[in-house]
Amino acid sequence: MLKYVLAIDQGTTSSRAILFDKQGHKVAMASREVKCLYPNEGYVEEDAMEIWISVVDVCNEVLIKSNTTWNQIDSIGITNQRETTVVWDKETGQPVYNAIVWQSRQSSQICDSLLHKKDFIHERTGLLINPYFSASKIRFILDHIENGQQRAENGELLFGTIDTWLIYKMSNGKKHLTDVTNASRTMLYNIFSMRWDKQLLSLFNIPACMLPRVCESSYDYGIASAFNNHVHILGVAGDQQASLFGHCCFESGQSKNTYGTGCFMLMNIGEKPILSKNGLLTTVAWKLNGKTTYALEGSVFIGGASVQWLRDGLKVISDASDSEKQAKKVESSNGVYLVPAFVGLGTPYWDDDVRGALFGVTRATNKYHIIRATLESIAFQSKDVFDVMIKEANINIKSLQVDGGATANNILMQFQSDILQIDVNKPACLETTALGVAYLAGLKSKYYDDLASISDSHECVATYSPKLSKKEVDKLWKGWKCAVKAAMIFKPGEEQ
Ligand code: ADP
Repeated sequence: MLKYVLAIDQGTTSSRAILFDKQGHKVAMASREVKCLYPNEGYVEEDAMEIWISVVDVCNEVLIKSNTTWNQIDSIGITNQRETTVVWDKETGQPVYNAIVWQSRQSSQICDSLLHKKDFIHERTGLLINPYFSASKIRFILDHIENGQQRAENGELLFGTIDTWLIYKMSNGKKHLTDVTNASRTMLYNIFSMRWDKQLLSLFNIPACMLPRVCESSYDYGIASAFNNHVHILGVAGDQQASLFGHCCFESGQSKNTYGTGCFMLMNIGEKPILSKNGLLTTVAWKLNGKTTYALEGSVFIGGASVQWLRDGLKVISDASDSEKQAKKVESSNGVYLVPAFVGLGTPYWDDDVRGALFGVTRATNKYHIIRATLESIAFQSKDVFDVMIKEANINIKSLQVDGGATANNILMQFQSDILQIDVNKPACLETTALGVAYLAGLKSKYYDDLASISDSHECVATYSPKLSKKEVDKLWKGWKCAVKAAMIFKPGEEQ
């Protein structure tokens, strides 16, 4: 009887359950959308019970679909949208407030009031003070429910990120646990001492009794008794770290970039955390057999979203895949640059006020050049992050692993390889996030032997190698830097 690892990938817009076999092949998948709620300007929330029910549904569906029984499930892995915060009543197991989603800005005032503590926070957590992370979201919830602080101090309330919430529900309320990767995104966890940080807890005035116990990424999190009486949850990791693991970036210097709405780049930096001076985050990549591995993380706000803009805003393409067909109609962007700073620019510019701009337009420019320039802008922005990473980690990188929806675009992938002057590798399984946590779970149960055998079975479907010369690339890169500089000068509301 064949056995599989069941990976649960609880994301912002959907919950998915995927069965993986011994070779890391996807056997079956089920998915459900999760509704986002926008109760106020800048607020993004989700119903934590709906999240849980969607997970129950997809787990059942994937088994039915593939004619698999729970007896054939070796173990369960959970990967999840990070930072999203749930607080629930210990007695009833009911959330006391909606889950506050990572994107939500509703706790920004709390963060503003702690700006003077930004170095203190960075030195402990590797994070930049921002409502994105869980700490200010917990504070917000305690401030917005009746007797929140009192109830928390009395031990009546529990906090969890989505992994913790799902483990709690799957274990019928028996386990209150999280893993090191999720803990490292709360802004309450000290990534140097690898403990909840008392000083941070007192800064946010959050009682320690609300917090889950922190475990390794491959660990026995207990039986998923809500599903079955013998299947254990053996792997847990936040989505970006799970993806790094799913790409088998086990060695220091190995890196991955995910091309979704935005882009998330993570680099394995080994056993010593490095604090960035240019706005990269330092995070825990995983902890295995007592050994912690760290990662640097940088993100591009507008990645695939710029292609959505071509479709919905400019209406020059019919769907995302059309961008490749259209861009192919021209040899190059012919000196046109798009700086897609639709919501400001992140690493290394950190300018919230800069807005998008198009440069180098002549009478010869047509829509195909603009489409091509848009795809190139995703690669240029990724190089901006990449350059800071290699500088700060002082590591030479030979190749980049990629995943995410926009990796379907060959022009983008080729240009990424050209502009970075390294190979870009696309894996056979694009569900790298789920695969990563399947590996973490299967390593614990010995379904997968070890890291070396996982690496051996890892398949790559496409490698893009640089075709442009260094000289051509240097010229293009100079153009990009010049375009960004010019875009940052354009602040019409301000006196020059
Ligand atoms: P997310 O997880 O952020 O929702 P996905 O990994 O599902 O993102 O990827 C969706 C994004 O990828 C969209 O922004 C879309 O515009 C972009 N995308 C999808 N296919 C292509 C393509 N062939 N070429 C360029 N961009 C694409």
